[in-house]
Amino acid sequence: MIEAGYILGGLWVFALGATVGSFANVCIYRIPFQKSLIWPGSHCPRCYSAISARDNVPVLGWILLGGRCRSCSLPIPARYPLIEFLSGALFVAVYFAELVYGGLEPKDFSRAGYHFLLISFLIVATFIDYDYRIIPDAITVTGMIVGLGLGTLMPWARPSPLEATTAWEGFRIGITGLLVGGGIIWAIRIFGRILFRKEAMGFGDVTLMAMIGSFLGWQILPPAVFLAVLLGLIEPLVKSVRMLWILIVHGKFRPVDSEIPFGPYLSMASLLLTLGWPWVWKSFLANYYRQLGEAASFLWGAVGG
Ligand SMILES: [Zn+2]
Repeated sequence: MIEAGYILGGLWVFALGATVGSFANVCIYRIPFQKSLIWPGSHCPRCYSAISARDNVPVLGWILLGGRCRSCSLPIPARYPLIEFLSGALFVAVYFAELVYGGLEPKDFSRAGYHFLLISFLIVATFIDYDYRIIPDAITVTGMIVGLGLGTLMPWARPSPLEATTAWEGFRIGITGLLVGGGIIWAIRIFGRILFRKEAMGFGDVTLMAMIGSFLGWQILPPAVFLAVLLGLIEPLVKSVRMLWILIVHGKFRPVDSEIPFGPYLSMASLLLTLGWPWVWKSFLANYYRQLGEAASFLWGAVGG
C-alpha cells in the first residue's frame, strides 16, 4: 500500500530530478565546447533573448511555450524536456527502490542521494557520448572524485554487501571499484584491438567505468559489462534488419554505421543493476561469486599442493 505521503515525496523527488536534468542539459550542451556552465545564462541560440525563470521550469516550461522560443518562435528541440523528464523519472525510480521499498533510515537517504549524483553524471556522459562519441574527463574525473570522496565520508551509503563502517574501508571499496572498472574496459580495448584491428572502445569508456566503479564497487561491474553488451547489440540488430529490409524491398544497399557509442549502454546497464541490486545480489550474484571463489581456491590448492 502506498500512502499519500509517499506520492507527495515522489513528486518532490521528480521535481528535484527534473531540475538536475535541466542543469544536465546545460552541461551536455556546453562541456564539449569547454564553455562556462554558469555564464552566460540560458538564451535562445537565434535571437539571444534570455530565457526567463518562468519559461525555464523543467518540462512544464517547454510544454507551456509549445516548444518554441517566446521571442522569435524558433523551435526548441524536444530533447531538452525529455532529458529533464528522464532525469526526474530515474530519480523517482531510485526513490521507490531505495526509500519506499528500501527503508527510511538516514543511511537509506544517503544512499539515494549518492545514487542521484551518479545518475546525474551518467546522464551527462551518455548524451555527450551519443552526440560526439567522446566522454570528457571533466565529467568522469569529477565523478570519480565525488564517488570516492562521498564513499569515504559516508561509508554506509553503498548497499549491502558494500556497507562499510570506517572511512578507510569506504575508500578502499571505492578505489578497488575504480581500478577494476577501468581495468575491465582497458582489457576489452586491448583484446578488441587484437581481434578486430580497430578501436573497439574509446578511452572515455575506461574512465566512465572507473567512475561507475568508484560509486558502486567492483561486484556490480562484470554483470554490468555483460548487460551493456546485450543492450548494445539491440541497436546494430535493428539497423541490420532495416538494412536488409531496404535491400530486399527497394533493392538498395545502404551500409550500416558500425560505430556504436558504448558509454550509454554501460550507463544504462549500471543503473538497471543498481535499481535491482538487493534482488540481483541475493538471488544470484552472491552465490555465483562464492562458487567462483571456491573454484579459484580449489585450483589454487591443486596448483600449490
Ligand atoms: Zn529566440
